[in-house]
This record gives sequence, structure tokens and C-alpha cells, in this order.
Amino acid sequence: MRIDIVTIFPSFFDSALREGVIHRACERGVLDIRVHDLRSWTLDRHRVTDDSPYGGGAGMVMKPEPLFAAIEQLKTESPGATTVLLSPQGRVWSQSLVREYGERPGMILVCGRYEGVDERVRLALIDEEISIGDYVLAGGETAAMVLVETVARQVPGVVGQAESVEQDSFFSGLLDHPHYTRPPVFRDLAVPEVLLSGDHAAITRWRRREALRQTLLKRPELLAGAKLGAEDLKMLEQTGGADDGAA
Ligand code: SAH
Repeated sequence: MRIDIVTIFPSFFDSALREGVIHRACERGVLDIRVHDLRSWTLDRHRVTDDSPYGGGAGMVMKPEPLFAAIEQLKTESPGATTVLLSPQGRVWSQSLVREYGERPGMILVCGRYEGVDERVRLALIDEEISIGDYVLAGGETAAMVLVETVARQVPGVVGQAESVEQDSFFSGLLDHPHYTRPPVFRDLAVPEVLLSGDHAAITRWRRREALRQTLLKRPELLAGAKLGAEDLKMLEQTGGADDGAA
């Protein structure tokens, strides 16, 4: 998958893209992430990308000319890509959108700054506005990184085992089950015995029951949208929702 990012702060992405699964995916060619400095599409000596708003008022607005030039060029380079404007006014990002985008050939992520971008950019060039939540960031870069990281995890070959993505919270409509590692007892807190038993069927049942229980305790509204079988309903009934952990 190809991901193009248009920003006035390209160095923002330097360390974020150099680490972890995303970096490995880029190295192996599973992901092709290109960060573009919007200023390289400016034509004036001072490489200006913003201007004052028509109608007056505080703040600056991102000028249409460099954004049009950048997005039009990237659309021809990456045909089939979805052009996204990061914006607090967009559809709120969620795991179901992550899955949808994960199947697309590419995305062009446009990061706003200041008061946002000239409305004509949105009207003429943007396929979809995406928000990462109901709050206002200083710029679209953090939001773009959220999209990159979440979509990247869905691309085959990015996360080592597909299984670990499938178990993640939200993937199946439930939260993930708890995880433990060594030592078996730490500060008097023991790892649930079943996990040390080597009985794989029992471990699978325990994990499913815990996923159901964590969801019931922390995000009960998710249960309505989860695909649950008869066995799950029975487990839910039995759990009763008591938590034995989190302080
Ligand atoms: N005046 C605008 C906010 C501008 S914030 C408004 O109220 O709609 C500056 C930039 O940060 C935006 O152009 C956008 O790219 C980014 N941004 C801010 N909040 C965001 C959010 N919740 N999700 C995604 N991008 C956001």
C-alpha cells in the first residue's frame, strides 16, 4: 500500500516512521510511505503556505495554490488512492474504517495547520474528511500518524502474526483478553493457572471468556454489535461481570 503525506512539517514523521512495525514494513516493501513538504509546491521566494482569512478574524488559513498543485500531482502518481483531509469535522476514525482503508490501494493524507485549509481544497480534491476524535489538535500530523499506524497493522505482513491482529481489541467487536508474561508470581500476584497448563483448548476458552468479561466490564455497549455464539452467551451469563484485577 502506498501512503502519501502532505505536510508543512515533514520532519515530524522522521522518528515515528523509523521505528517498529511500520519501519520494518517499509523496508520489506509492504508499505510505501512518502512524506512530502508542501513548501516544495510553492512558487514564491519565501515558500508561503498560509494567508489571512477573508472576512477577518484570528488565525491563518492554508492557501489553495500549493495544496492543489501537491494533491493533483500525487493523485496522478497514485491512482486509486483515497484523498483524506485530516479534520475535526470528519468521520470519526474507528476499527471498521481502519479495515475499510486497509483494503484500498493507497491514501493521500493532507495535514492542515492553523485554522485549517481553504474550503476549495476540500470541495475540489478531498474524497473524505477524517477526524481522530472530538477534540481539536494543532495540526493534522498527529492524526495522520494515527491513520498510518492503524491501517499499517491491517496490511498483511506488517504485524508478525495475523493472529495477533485478529485478537486485538475491536477486531472481532470485543476487547482483547488480558496478557501475562514471566515471572509466574510477581509481588504475590499469580498468573492464572490455566495459562501455565499447556491445555490449548482450555486456554482458548479462558481467553474468550476474559475477552467477553473485559468487554462487559469496560465497554458493555460493544457487546450489542459483537458476533456472539451460544457458548459466548453462556460464558457471559456465568461471568457476572466481577473484576478480579485492575486497581
Ligand atoms: N478551525 C478548525 C480546526 C483547525 S485545527 C475547525 O474547528 O474545524 C488545525 C488542523 O489540525 C486541522 O486543519 C486538521 O488538519 C488538524 N486537526 C485538528 N483536530 C483534528 C482531529 N480531531 N482529527 C483530525 N485532524 C485534526
